[in-house]
Amino acid sequence: MNYQSKTQEELINELRELQLEHNSLIGFYEKEIIDRKEAIEKLKNINERFELATKAAVFSVWEHDLITDIINIDDNFNMLYGINWANYQIRFSEFIKFVNPDDVDIITINIEKAIVTDLNTDFEFKIVRPDGEMRYIKAYCKIVKDCETNKPIRLIGVNIDISDSKKAEKELLVAKKHAEESEAQFRLIFENSMDSIIWTEAKTGIIISSNPSSEILTEYTCQEIIGQSFTIIIPPENIKYIVSEYQKHQQNKGIKSLEFQIITKSGKIKYVELSGTNIEVNGKEISQGFFKDITTRKQKDHDLILAKERAEESDRLKSAFLANMSHEIRTPMNGILGFADLLKEPGLTGDEQQEYISIIQKSGVRMLNIINDIVDISKIEAGLMKLEMKESNINEQIEYIYTFFKPEMEAKGIKFSLKNTLPAKEAIIKTDREKLYAILTNLVKNAIKYTNEGSIEFGYFKKRDHLEFYVKDTGIGIPHDRKKAIFERFIQADIENKMAHQGAGLGLAITKSYVEMLGGTIWEESEEGIGSTFYFTLPYNTEPTEKSVVQNAVVSVTSGNMVKSLKILIAEDDKVSEMLIDITVKTFGKEILKVRTGVEAVEACRDNPDIDLILMDIQMPEMGGYEATRQIRQFNKDIVIIAQTAFGLSGDREKALDAGCNDYISKPIKKDELLSLIQKYMNN
Ligand code: ADP
Repeated sequence: MNYQSKTQEELINELRELQLEHNSLIGFYEKEIIDRKEAIEKLKNINERFELATKAAVFSVWEHDLITDIINIDDNFNMLYGINWANYQIRFSEFIKFVNPDDVDIITINIEKAIVTDLNTDFEFKIVRPDGEMRYIKAYCKIVKDCETNKPIRLIGVNIDISDSKKAEKELLVAKKHAEESEAQFRLIFENSMDSIIWTEAKTGIIISSNPSSEILTEYTCQEIIGQSFTIIIPPENIKYIVSEYQKHQQNKGIKSLEFQIITKSGKIKYVELSGTNIEVNGKEISQGFFKDITTRKQKDHDLILAKERAEESDRLKSAFLANMSHEIRTPMNGILGFADLLKEPGLTGDEQQEYISIIQKSGVRMLNIINDIVDISKIEAGLMKLEMKESNINEQIEYIYTFFKPEMEAKGIKFSLKNTLPAKEAIIKTDREKLYAILTNLVKNAIKYTNEGSIEFGYFKKRDHLEFYVKDTGIGIPHDRKKAIFERFIQADIENKMAHQGAGLGLAITKSYVEMLGGTIWEESEEGIGSTFYFTLPYNTEPTEKSVVQNAVVSVTSGNMVKSLKILIAEDDKVSEMLIDITVKTFGKEILKVRTGVEAVEACRDNPDIDLILMDIQMPEMGGYEATRQIRQFNKDIVIIAQTAFGLSGDREKALDAGCNDYISKPIKKDELLSLIQKYMNN
C-alpha cells in the first residue's frame, strides 16, 4: 500500500478540519456575545491572529514502526521540537523524554487506544524543548496494518505546533469571560435600575428593549411596549414637540436632560426627565434613554408656586380688605355719628327727627351686616362653621323670604314673584335651614341691590337627585371677565364704580361656601344690561315625611297683646344694652330687676322666686351667664331664661340650651324677635 501519498492527502484534509474546528469555535464565541461591541472587536483581532497562527503552524509528519520501535521523521520534526534529531536514535523511549512528564500518559493511552480500536486518534500534549520553552503539540495518528496478518505494524501521524493558537484560545476565553462579566454587570444595572431604561431604534423610534422600572413608569409590560413607537407614551398634544426635540438631540448623538410629560397606559400624566446616548449595536444605531420619574418634584414645585401665588394673593386681598373695610365701616359710622349730632340741634321738626333717626337705624343695620359677614367668613376660613342638618320644608322657607322682602320690592317698584314646584309634603329635604336661609337671602338681597327696575323671580325645580334653585333679576348684569371673580372674597364686579353699591364683596363668597358645605354647586348666567340669574343646587336627600314639617312662620308680634304682668330680671353688665332691653320690655313688665354679674343674678333669683323671666347676658364679670343659669336651675326649674350674646358664633344656641336656658337671642336685640320669644314662653 502506498501510504506515503495517502498520508499527504490525509494531512491536508486533517489540517483543513483543524482550521474549520477553530473557526467554528470563534463563531460560537461571537454568537454568545454579539451585543457587546467592545468584545466583538477583541474577538475579531483574536480571530485574525488565530488564523495567522494556524496558517503559519509548523507541522511534521512521522512514522513509528511498532516492531522496531524506531520513529522516522521529516525535517520539520527538528524545527517543531527545537532539537537536531540526527544526534539521536529516535526510538519512542527517547522521544518521550522531551514530553512534559504530566502528559506522557496521554500519549501512551491514546496510542494504545488507536491500536486496540483501529481508529484514528488525536490528542494534545506539551513538550519541553532543550532551551526550556514549553510548546503545545497536537498529534493526529492512524494505525497501519500488515495486509497479510492484519496486525498493526505502524503508526503514522502528523504533529502540529498549536502553541500560538492555544495562547489565542486562552485569550479568547479571557475575553469571553470579560464580555460575560460586563454583560452580567450591564444586565444587573438594566434590571435593577431605579430609572427606566428604554432602547429605541434611532432611525424609526421603535422600542426594542425596556427594563422592569419602565413597567412601573409606563404601566405597559415590556412585551406590550416592545415593537411600539416611543410616541405611545407621549400625550398626543405633545408628540410634535417631543419628536422635534428627539430629532434635534439625535443629531447630537444624545440627549442631556429633557423634561416632558408622558401618558401611562391608564391615561395618568407623569413628568419625566430624559437623558440618553446613541450606541451602535450590530451595525444599528440605538438610542438608549434613561427616564427619571420627576412627578413628585414637579408637584412640589407646582405646590410651591401655588403657595407663593396664594401668599401674594392673600397679601393683595388683605390690602383690599383693609381699604374696603375702612370704607364700609366708616360710611355707616359717619351716618350714625353725623345724624346723632344733628339730632342734638335745637328746633328740629318732628319729621326731621324721624328722618335722622331712620338714617341712624339704617346705618346701624348696614354696619351690623358687615360685621356679620366678617364673622361668618372668618368662621368659614377657620373651619369653625358647622352644619346642623335637619329636615326642613323648603316651600316654607321660600315663602318666608318672599314675605320678608315683598315690602322692600314694592317700595322699589320691582315685580317680585316666587315659584314653588313641589307639593308641600314633597318639599322636605335634610339640610341646614339657617344656611339655606342665608344663601337665599344673600342672593335675593343682591338681586334687589343690583336691580333698579323690572322684576326678580326666585324658586326651585327638582332635577333627578337634586333641587336646582334660582334667583333671576333684570338688573345691571355682570361683565363677562368678572364672572369668576365675584365668588371670591372681597371682590366686587364693578371695581371702578363700586362706591355706587354698598357691600364688602363677601356675600357671594359666604354663599358659595355654604352651598358647597351643603353638597351643592353655585354658578350664574348673566348679561350686562339685561340681568343675572344665580343658580345653586342642593341634594334632594330625604324621603318625604309629613310629620317633620319645620315651623318657620313669621310671628307677627305687637306688644299690645302682651299683658303688663311679668316680673323680669335683666342680667347685663353693659349699660347701653341694659337700657335698650329695659325700654323694650317695659311695656309688659310689671316689675323689672337689674343685676350686673352672674353672682348677683343667682342671688336675685333666690331672693325673688316669683321672677317670671330672666334675660341673661352670657359674658358678665365674676360669673358668666351659662354658669349662673346652671346654678339657678339647681333650685328653680320653671323660670324662663333667655340667653343673649354678642358673639354670633355657631354652637352658641346649643351651649345656651345645655346650660339650661330655654332659648337664645343674639345681640343687637331686635324688638320683634325678643317679643315673639317672650310671647312664645309666657303663653306656654
Ligand atoms: P357685595 O357685598 O359687593 O354685594 P357679593 O359677594 O354679594 O358682594 O357680590 C360680589 C359682586 O358681584 C358684587 O359687588 C356685584 O358686583 C356682583 N353681583 C352680585 N350679585 C349681582 C347681581 N344680582 N347683579 C349684578 N351684579 C351682582
